[in-house]
Amino acid sequence: MMAADHTPTHLIHTMPSVRGNLKADDALSRYTWFKVGGPAEVLFKPADEEDLCGFLSQLPANIPVSIIGNASNLLIRDGGVPGVVIRLGRAFSEIEISDTQMHVGAAVADLSVARKARDYAISGLEFLSGIPGTVGGAVRMNAGAYGDEIKDVCTSVRAIDRSGEVHELNASDLGFGYRHSTLDPSWIITQVTLQGQPGLIAEITQRMEKIQSDREQSQPIRTLTGGSTFANPKDHKAWQLIDQTGCRGLVWGGAIVSNLHCNFLVNSGNATAADIEGLGEEVRRRVFDKFGITLEWEIRRIGIPTLQGIKEDGQ
Ligand SMILES: Cc1cc2nc3c(=O)[nH]c(=O)nc-3n(C[C@H](O)[C@H](O)[C@H](O)COP(=O)(O)OP(=O)(O)OC[C@H]3O[C@@H](n4cnc5c(N)ncnc54)[C@H](O)[C@@H]3O)c2cc1C
Repeated sequence: MMAADHTPTHLIHTMPSVRGNLKADDALSRYTWFKVGGPAEVLFKPADEEDLCGFLSQLPANIPVSIIGNASNLLIRDGGVPGVVIRLGRAFSEIEISDTQMHVGAAVADLSVARKARDYAISGLEFLSGIPGTVGGAVRMNAGAYGDEIKDVCTSVRAIDRSGEVHELNASDLGFGYRHSTLDPSWIITQVTLQGQPGLIAEITQRMEKIQSDREQSQPIRTLTGGSTFANPKDHKAWQLIDQTGCRGLVWGGAIVSNLHCNFLVNSGNATAADIEGLGEEVRRRVFDKFGITLEWEIRRIGIPTLQGIKEDGQ
């Protein structure tokens, strides 16, 4: 664990001046769905896009920068995240609508986008109502559900590179694949343009309600979890492999493989990030031993590892 060090040599004292908020050794566990993880060496919440660009342009290139959204697909390790972690707030939470097009700040929750679209009778975005992240995170991960993905509705994004320069990118520049985009991991999405279609509020509402009830029955959405842990290997379902290996309900310290959906790992209350990562690695080992198939982590793992032998996934 990084020590809380407020001496003049701490990274916080070398930060460019900003209008937003800078905090040393800020606990990230409170932001994550798993409710685990060590501190950010420095957490930066920019006042607005100009503040973010100014900060990045002055930040020495050797200081690592990570961006988090709602941390619903992140396992932050117990040792914390070195360098600067950026989290977008209110200034990135606007939604503008013109006809069936939505310009959405990257910090807006997916559920809020779906609700706004419904209120304006815009269809095609219902699937977002079941995904607990932000729109920025949804683009980065090409989030999707029930056959729809963000790549089907995203037409362009605005993103800031590591040196603070602003870029307007078309969807075709984002290299969307299964729960994946090729956007440079150091780039920060600040705005997303989504294209829906004209719809009927009653039908959109019905689809959103169906999504909610389906999820309640099939996923442990009210637990401390990180969503689907492993990507589906080609021609296989990760949950089936995990189930057939007898891992449903497997316990590792304070972490457990969900009994409801065994591709979900759950913090049963007192898990560390090491427990959750250790459980995931044990599941991978058992699946490989039985089927010779290597499960790849879908959950992003960042920060200082605390278990011997765990490799970085390089995001
Ligand atoms: C109960 C539960 C159910 C879930 N169901 C689904 C599902 O049905 N479908 C699905 O696809 N996912 C699902 N997820 C996973 C998760 O919600 C999505 O991947 C979501 O898109 C992540 O968004 P986030 O804001 O939480 O991103 P985070 O988890 O904070 O980050 C994920 C990645 O996105 C990057 N990122 C975040 N914000 C930005 C930004 N502004 N600019 C650039 N990069 C950024 C991060 O650096 C990181 O690499 C589920 C998770 C949970 C906990």
